[in-house]
Amino acid sequence: MTDLPHTTSRKMGLVIDLDTCVGCHACVISCKGWNTENYGAPLSDQDAYGADPSGTFLNRVHSYEVQPEQGHAQLIHFPKSCLHCEDAPCVTVCPTGASYKRVEDGIVLVNEEDCIGCGLCAWSCPYGARELDLAAGVMKKCTLCVDRIYNENLPEEDRQPACVRTCPAGARHFGDLGDPGSDVSQLVAARGGMDLMPEMGTKPVNKYLPPRPKDTLSQTHEQIDVLAPFLAPVAEDTGGFLGWLDRALDKLPGGSN
Ligand code: SF4
Ligand code: SF4
Ligand code: SF4
Repeated sequence: MTDLPHTTSRKMGLVIDLDTCVGCHACVISCKGWNTENYGAPLSDQDAYGADPSGTFLNRVHSYEVQPEQGHAQLIHFPKSCLHCEDAPCVTVCPTGASYKRVEDGIVLVNEEDCIGCGLCAWSCPYGARELDLAAGVMKKCTLCVDRIYNENLPEEDRQPACVRTCPAGARHFGDLGDPGSDVSQLVAARGGMDLMPEMGTKPVNKYLPPRPKDTLSQTHEQIDVLAPFLAPVAEDTGGFLGWLDRALDKLPGGSN
């Protein structure tokens, strides 16, 4: 049993926009790359080029087809990593103190030297955000790229999580969700950002922005109607081959001129 801090000075986390995520998996690859190359043991793969490959990933994207009550089905891409919960069951369940939540910024981490690989934290996490690395025998999880965001050896623009820096759709945002004036908090307020599975009582810091309603067929027809008056003069004064043909036919006996 490991204690959680009563409060944290900041609540650093991610805001993920389900409206603009295109499911490209760039964030998955950049996360795996950064966390394999830059600290501790690499994130291992098993049977990587065989018939049944598996591996350790700190961020995964699942895609779902959702059928609304009205209209067409929508494809929703759902990126998922640790949500750095305020009431994190993966910390309190840990028998060695290897799992902990930082007082200064709320980031949930694993001290791999104290981890015995018992798997209790993975069992207790309702989001499936922890992965036991089979080669290293220790638990791995999203670190919120704690080795990037404070790293003064990196250019300032790179002091963001690798997944945020990489996302080509601008669907991932990083900041202090405990500060109501921060960009991420304002984004959550403006777009109705949501907790994932709030009924679990974990109080996740990360937030998801819901997909916007898609255009409907009737809206498309309205757009065409709006354009129609602009098309009319072109039809009356036809140019090019059709205009030449129109004028040539008019000159024939029985034409209007
Ligand atoms: S990189 Fe961005 S757009 Fe691509 S899957 Fe990840 S969140 Fe979605
Ligand atoms: S796997 Fe490691 S971090 Fe998770 S509960 Fe066991 S000792 Fe703690
Ligand atoms: S914050 Fe870092 S460790 Fe966490 S999902 Fe993004 S790239 Fe991976």
